[in-house]
Amino acid sequence: MQNKIWLSSPHMGGNEQKYVQEAFDTNWIAPLGPNVNGFEKDLEEYLGNDSKVACLSSGTAALHLALVLADVKLNDEVLCQSMTFSASANPITYQGAKPVFVDSELDTWNMCPIHLENAIKEGISKGNKPKAIIIVHLYGMPAKMDEISAIAKKHEIVLIEDAAEALGSTYKGQKCGTFGDYGVLSFNGNKIITTSGGGALVCKTEESKQKAIFLATQARDNAPHYQHSEIGFNYRMSNVLAGIGRGQMEVLDKHIGLRREMNQFYIEIFKNIEGIDVFVEPSTDYFSNHWLSCITIDEQKTGFSSEYIRLKLLGDNIESRPLWKPMHLQPVFKSSMYFGNLVSEKLFNNGLCLPSGSNLTSKEREQIKESISLVLKR
Ligand SMILES: *Cc1c(COP(=O)(O)O)cnc(C)c1O
Repeated sequence: MQNKIWLSSPHMGGNEQKYVQEAFDTNWIAPLGPNVNGFEKDLEEYLGNDSKVACLSSGTAALHLALVLADVKLNDEVLCQSMTFSASANPITYQGAKPVFVDSELDTWNMCPIHLENAIKEGISKGNKPKAIIIVHLYGMPAKMDEISAIAKKHEIVLIEDAAEALGSTYKGQKCGTFGDYGVLSFNGNKIITTSGGGALVCKTEESKQKAIFLATQARDNAPHYQHSEIGFNYRMSNVLAGIGRGQMEVLDKHIGLRREMNQFYIEIFKNIEGIDVFVEPSTDYFSNHWLSCITIDEQKTGFSSEYIRLKLLGDNIESRPLWKPMHLQPVFKSSMYFGNLVSEKLFNNGLCLPSGSNLTSKEREQIKESISLVLKR
């Protein structure tokens, strides 16, 4: 059988090992050093908008620190997009706070501004105004940032942007991760660029960046001995891994182009198929990195389900995956509040993520096309 075709696998550019070698040559084998500083500078330049970036051990760590910096504490409520990966929501519980989940809208699959506003009003009327809002740019698709930013501003609530899947995506020309009070990036193995594991917190001021770094390095006070006035974390990025990140930055835009080609590839395959839609930008205001290409299947029209396609592809050794299961449907969050309707639930029931890597060969693309066409000919 052919080699497995993965949903999204690491794609090295070539210079990563040069930076890693430099770390070894200079013995900067620590969670600080020239590669960490260099990677932060690269990201700051790339994101623009006067961003200040702190590199961390993971995107989850960045979300956790964003909540700490937003002063989220025991029994606070934090609004979170329901349709997302669990890492968006878990850090809320690390703080002893309570997630309140909000449904998506159909244009971007991200947080619905109407349900968001309802959730805020309900919280305020109960005397428990939400402490923060976590929105996500799912699969690289920018959320409705004009509406969401306006709501956060109007109610003076901290906005945290989970851009873990959306590095390089833009909304009205502005990079995702730079809209909120804090932005979160991930460099996990399956993301658009990777350091094998890693993440970053995007801040608005140098002061909050320095505070994030302070918290990420055990919150050590300025004294010759080890003294602590606050609880800290061990969340800083390794200088070895930051070397991989520097190499990856050199090929980021090229890889985004290739991911977007994969999206085009699926648009071609499904263009005359009634009942199957490829997920694309709702207007030219949105530019998605198309981290993952996704489809939704209307079983009434096609006569088969997304699960049927998934199993057929798996039979041909091709990985595909259902969309994220909404958090309000997860057993672990079953007692959490939820504002919304059935949008995210329906997307979950009918959607599928397809192989989207920037490193898929033309032979692999042919295999994917062949396998899908057998499903469609059924
Ligand atoms: C990957 C991901 C994260 C977590 O990032 P890690 O670096 O794996 O901790 C958070 N949110 C979303 C939406 C993600 O896809």
